[in-house]
Amino acid sequence: MTNTLFDALMGPHEGSARDFLILGDGKRISYGEMHRLSGRLANLLQAEGLKPGDRVAVQVEKSPEALALYLATVRAGGVFLPLNTAYTPAEIAYFVGDAEPALVICDPAREGKRADFMPADGKLMTLGADGKGSLIEAAAHDEAHDPVAREGGDLAAILYTSGTTGRSKGAMLSHDNLLSNARTLVDAWRFTSEDVLLHALPIFHTHGLFVASNVMILSGGAMIWLPKFDAAQVVGLLPQATTMMGVPTFYTRLLDRPDFDRELVAGMRLFTSGSAPLLAETHRAFEDRTGHRILERYGMTETNMNTSNPYDGERRAGTVGFPLPGVELRIVGEDGAELSQGEIGQIEVRGDNVFQGYWRMPEKTAEELGADGWFKTGDLGMIDADGYVSIVGRGKDLIISGGFNIYPKEVELLIDEMPGVLESAVIGVPHPDFGEGVVAVVARAKDAEPDPQAIIDGLADRLARFKQPKKVIVVDELPRNTMGKVQKAALRAEHGALFRT
Ligand code: AMP
Repeated sequence: MTNTLFDALMGPHEGSARDFLILGDGKRISYGEMHRLSGRLANLLQAEGLKPGDRVAVQVEKSPEALALYLATVRAGGVFLPLNTAYTPAEIAYFVGDAEPALVICDPAREGKRADFMPADGKLMTLGADGKGSLIEAAAHDEAHDPVAREGGDLAAILYTSGTTGRSKGAMLSHDNLLSNARTLVDAWRFTSEDVLLHALPIFHTHGLFVASNVMILSGGAMIWLPKFDAAQVVGLLPQATTMMGVPTFYTRLLDRPDFDRELVAGMRLFTSGSAPLLAETHRAFEDRTGHRILERYGMTETNMNTSNPYDGERRAGTVGFPLPGVELRIVGEDGAELSQGEIGQIEVRGDNVFQGYWRMPEKTAEELGADGWFKTGDLGMIDADGYVSIVGRGKDLIISGGFNIYPKEVELLIDEMPGVLESAVIGVPHPDFGEGVVAVVARAKDAEPDPQAIIDGLADRLARFKQPKKVIVVDELPRNTMGKVQKAALRAEHGALFRT
């Protein structure tokens, strides 16, 4: 009996004394230890009643134990469902209601609020940033565990993306989706067991969990495992690393430091960037400072990684490179017909990397994922004469702030309910630190004078902090085109300099 993903990732490491995680304080955890902890946790999950295909929803801080919980869930035949640590109990209640997990694991600090997000008969356990909690206490089980049989097409994870209509969608990822993409990336980026990856990304998102962690486990290298990105700490630890995966903000923050220089990164062989556009000027400034050209790649929750700049060839600033081996990519027009080279249209992709559909949303799945396997990414892009893909915009008006995605509709729906508000348009405008800052442009109801601060305060308990507007602007009316659509591009142009320093 085989468990497709777990056997490929962790099978070879059973009993291994090689370093797997190196913590900020220098403590080391071997692959063998992680294998054993995943066995104990998998036994516990099954003792708690987890059946193959059941979901395990997890909103916890990053820790070695949190990573072990991911491996244990897959090992026990479950479906791992990580949730952004910034989500409020009200947001978690939606995910728990939608995904109906067999077990929810939260931070101990959230346990007292269980009534706000758990059904009365739901099972809840805790895991803290320090690796302690009822989950670990209960996992005094046998570390020997036979991985539960799971085939390539079975689900390994569900990751929620934000919904354009305010409802989040659960992207269902199979064992094969994750494994095929990890294998492709190990080859494309030349990972080996000699590598040490500096890991400062969150692990509730595809980038930190699948791109970084799966790739490293598959290659057998080690990870410097940091709870979050702290530029001073990263500068201190980079000399021990060979590679780093980051979002653009990591690189701009490093460049802000005079002690980040060529000598510091002399032992590095690769820096990658993704999840949001890396400005060409950052790419060039990084090369000038360090001699390294950042390798930019493009992917998304639903598809894993789609394209990458080449390891050996020219890494071209402002582009996301070529489709990865096994991934087909095309640019289509409004009518769905393929466009020619150089034309801008919607990016569609097809391959083993593409997800299985949205959890319990067959209509939404059918709209975006064709029967022929092509997935409509919602991103606008073009392919240049040399085959490099560029992303020129985001169809669905997605805002990316500090590496996190915000769908304006979700924020707008909440603002529109507030007193004195007629309607609202939420946009992202350039922000020196976050890439984009969230701005709400609010049209006042007749004779009303809504208070911008009251709107910001009114969202505090209802939305994760990264989704909350940094600025609210009250206007008489929103600009519209002849079709009645709000002109967000005009608003972005008008307010584009808001955060300029
Ligand atoms: P997520 O599902 O959170 O990973 O977000 C995916 C979205 O992030 C994509 O659909 C793109 O809009 C954006 N994205 C990811 N990588 C890049 C990149 N290298 N350049 C520009 N946008 C990117």
